[in-house]
Amino acid sequence: MSRLIQLSQQFKSLRFNAMAEHLESLIRQAEDNELSYLQFASLLVETELGSRDKRRIQLNRKKACFPALKRLDEFDFRFQTTITKKQIQALLDFRFIDERENIVFIGPPGVGKTHLGISIGSKAIDAGYKVWFTSALELIELLEIAEIKGELKKKITTLCKFDLIIIDELGYLPLNKQGMFNLFQFINTLYEYRSVIITTNKDFTSWNDFFIDENVAVPVIDRLIHHSHLFMMGGESYRLKNKLNH
Ligand code: ADP
Ligand code: MG
Repeated sequence: MSRLIQLSQQFKSLRFNAMAEHLESLIRQAEDNELSYLQFASLLVETELGSRDKRRIQLNRKKACFPALKRLDEFDFRFQTTITKKQIQALLDFRFIDERENIVFIGPPGVGKTHLGISIGSKAIDAGYKVWFTSALELIELLEIAEIKGELKKKITTLCKFDLIIIDELGYLPLNKQGMFNLFQFINTLYEYRSVIITTNKDFTSWNDFFIDENVAVPVIDRLIHHSHLFMMGGESYRLKNKLNH
């Protein structure tokens, strides 16, 4: 067996898979560019680390459960004028995640709330954060199942491993008492510990019919909007615009 193949296998057994895979071309690169020993050693390590970062990001993208691919550069800020590109760009240093702040998009259907939520989440993944997207309905069902199994706390702990949680369409359907309680537990655990992006068609003054019980509505809303970036969006539905153009 050639020394090269043997070395490559040794790297593999150490789980340095990228180093193993690219060894031959890295050696050639070092020879061609007359790299120093130190430069070659860092080239090897950087190849491995770069490949691991890439894989981790790919995996995080899968775990995020985005319902569709939405990119920020596809968002037309000339159509949606109640929010500026600058306001959204300002969020992309992700200080809001590091400082456990929330983002709330409020507005009627079709104005781009979900699009912005997904695209900010997607950029956060590229920056190395763990993100989870869920609809409010899905979340409430998930919490309900966990609660019935007596595993609500455990479920909430698992969900808290994400740095950013996007809850889409909160407030669309009324909740029963248990659903309300479960959601409160969840929001309470996330408060000042993880960041949340909420999209909703209701402004907070009309959330009482969603929560039924004001004793729960007030503290949930309070926690969500404390330390939050609130965007009141309006304008025409983008879906309607496309229909009219066709
Ligand atoms: P909402 O969540 O506010 O109901 P969506 O984000 O789902 O609206 O937007 C509806 C559709 O229109 C989606 O396909 C979205 O990608 C698109 N869309 C909405 N606003 C814009 C915009 N300003 N530029 C480009 N596409 C948009
Ligand atoms: Mg939506």
